[in-house]
Amino acid sequence: MSPIKLEVVSAERLVYSDDVDTVIAPGVEGQLGILPHHAPLMTMLESGELLIKKGTDEISLVVSGGFMEVRPDQIIVLADAAERIEEIDVTRAEEARRRAEEKLEHRASNIDMEKAEMALKRSLVRLKAVDKIKKRRPLA
Ligand code: ATP
Repeated sequence: MSPIKLEVVSAERLVYSDDVDTVIAPGVEGQLGILPHHAPLMTMLESGELLIKKGTDEISLVVSGGFMEVRPDQIIVLADAAERIEEIDVTRAEEARRRAEEKLEHRASNIDMEKAEMALKRSLVRLKAVDKIKKRRPLA
C-alpha cells in the first residue's frame, strides 16, 4: 500500500515528519490504527504512545494530549507535548512523577490536584514507554 504523510507537531517544534505505513494513536476512545486511505477523521488524543510503522522500522513517540486529523493524503497530530522515546530523559520524568505524587499526597486546591494528576499521568506514560522499548530492544 502507498505510504501516507505524517506530521507530529508539539507546542514547541516539529517532532516528526515522514511518509509512513501505519500509525497507531492513543485516541480518547481507545487505540486507533490508521492505514493509508483511512476515512477522514478528527479526534482528541490521550496521553500515550503513538506507534509509527515504516517498512520494517517501528518509531515510538510519546504524546501528551492533543488532537489528530486524518485526511486522505496526510495525518496531522498536534500535541501539547511530544517526543521520541529515545529523547526521553528518565531522571526528569522520575522527578516529575515524584513532585506530582508529593502534591497529590499533600492535597492542595482542586486546580492544583488536577494539574498534579495530569503531570503524574504524563510522567507515567513517559516512564512506561521507556520501559516498554527497553524490553523490546534489550541492550546487548
Ligand atoms: P517537567 O515537569 O519535567 O517539565 P512536564 O510533564 O510538565 O514535565 P511537558 O509540559 O509535558 O513537561 O513538556 C514540556 C516540554 O518538555 C515538551 O517539549 C516535552 O517534550 C519535554 N519533556 C517533558 N518531560 C520530558 C522528559 N522526561 N524527557 C524529555 N523531554 C521531556
